[in-house]
Amino acid sequence: MAEKYDVVVIGSGPAGYVCAIRAAQLGLKTACIEKYQDPAGKGVNGGTCLNEGCIPSKALLDSSMKYYEAKTSLSKHGINARSVTVDIEQMIARKNDIVKQLTGGIAGLFKANGVTSLFGTGKLLAGRKVEYTDSKGKVKTIEAENVVLATGSEAIDIPVAPVDGKTIIDSKAALEITKVPKRLGIIGAGVIGLELGSVWSRLGSEVILLEALDVFLAMTDKQIAKEAIKVFTRQGLDIRMACRVTGSEVKRGKVTVTYQNAEGEEQQEIFDQLIVCVGRQPYTDNLLSEDSGVNLDERGSIFVDDYCATNAPGVWAVGDLVRGPMLAHKGSEEGVMVAERIAGQLTEMNYDIIPNVVYTHPEIASVGQTEEQLKQSGEPYKVGMFPFAASGRALAADDTDGLVKILAHADTDRILGAHIIGPSAAELVQQVAIAMEFGSSAEDVGMMVFAHPTMSEAVHEAALAVNGHAIHVANRRKRKQKK
Ligand code: FAD
Ligand code: NAD
Repeated sequence: MAEKYDVVVIGSGPAGYVCAIRAAQLGLKTACIEKYQDPAGKGVNGGTCLNEGCIPSKALLDSSMKYYEAKTSLSKHGINARSVTVDIEQMIARKNDIVKQLTGGIAGLFKANGVTSLFGTGKLLAGRKVEYTDSKGKVKTIEAENVVLATGSEAIDIPVAPVDGKTIIDSKAALEITKVPKRLGIIGAGVIGLELGSVWSRLGSEVILLEALDVFLAMTDKQIAKEAIKVFTRQGLDIRMACRVTGSEVKRGKVTVTYQNAEGEEQQEIFDQLIVCVGRQPYTDNLLSEDSGVNLDERGSIFVDDYCATNAPGVWAVGDLVRGPMLAHKGSEEGVMVAERIAGQLTEMNYDIIPNVVYTHPEIASVGQTEEQLKQSGEPYKVGMFPFAASGRALAADDTDGLVKILAHADTDRILGAHIIGPSAAELVQQVAIAMEFGSSAEDVGMMVFAHPTMSEAVHEAALAVNGHAIHVANRRKRKQKK
């Protein structure tokens, strides 16, 4: 007789493994199928996030930042670290250890929560059945009351620069480079391009980013994006906008990239390595049998409703595989929502308050609506801003680039968005996200007591500035004062 579970999750990235753990916590008999293998052929949980995305990229961002600071700014603090050298192999080994620790941690969590971990490939068949092919190729059918699809996404390829894994590489291989490329080309100045460009630029590469759009970080609040490109250019990233890559040729270990610049002129650059990071697409290869009954949308994502239910009864889909931003935390919260709904709870997710962070230095973080979105929707708003140059803590840390910008409704004062470029922006934006989740006004945040001296005070001051009450910066316009 076929094995039977309450829940079978296919994919153990942040969307799938979190869903499996929550389902098991709720007393549901749960299995999670994962096909990812390490180079030795051993099954590994954690998905893109842990193995080749969020975690390894942040490990390299942190390591490269330490080197960069030692080389460029410690002397200002009276610390002379002469002849600082970098051992890239050690840096990569440290990153690999962190990945191993965390992926091993998921195995431990599965065990502790009673999730059955199955290594191999899952395919959805009709009638809530899953075909499971184990790592040795043995096939069996598993029955499930509910199936959760969580197979994530993959990098988009472009024919003008086909990835060969050596000279032209994707983001995964860019986390494994063991020799600093003298000249590094990057196609796509989006999140990955900026994060990985920062890593290799700090380690000594000359980095040129070729971006197709003429607007930098198009989804980001314009004022923050403007500040960002100024800072990154000063750091040495050569960001070329409105470039159309028309071809690439690999010869003797170097790649020549041909592109049309913003003026329509043909240009060429020769790089030691080229990273292609032009976005990601949902990964559905061999996931659905023809009669599975699950529909895709026009972008190739699995079609789901607000609660991540597909059109096939008992089949759900979460994470990068479905609409919305491709972010680990968005997928994880969907995983929790689905597990709880399967268990009969009426959990919902607030898609309007999902923080988004680019882990450059300074970090760029945002939540809620941008000023451009508010203008477009016609919603009346007011703005409060505070520059880190006026923050005592930022000055003490010698980290003063950037600002906090808070947008609130002009009449109700309810916070509608926060956009930050600056030190610890990723942590600061969460403070505003929590406030927004509780329906706070800018005045509410302004009335709270913030520890001094902290970077968080910049959030406090920006909230005060919304109503013209900032203390440590001149307010933009005089407003009627409260009695
Ligand atoms: P994934 O993490 O992609 O996991 C899907 C899993 O399903 C994979 O392990 C895959 O092997 C498995 N699978 C696929 N098909 C099958 C099958 N048929 N059977 C069994 N298993 C299968 N997001 C952030 O929020 N913050 C960051 O800082 C961040 N940094 C990133 C850096 C990089 C370089 C990249 C590439 C991405 C980054 N992301 C970041 C995005 C984040 O990694 C994804 O949003 C997240 O991993 C998506 O989670 P998921 O569970 O939907 O899918
Ligand atoms: P992205 O969408 O952030 O950026 C891709 C960039 O490439 C865009 O600016 C786009 O205009 C440009 N582009 C597209 N085609 C091009 C072409 N032919 N030539 C030149 N430029 C081109 O995508 P990404 O950087 O590949 O990252 C993929 C996804 O992974 C992100 O959207 C994000 O969801 C996730 N991610 C998140 C984080 C984070 O949260 N910190 C980090 C890395 C990745």
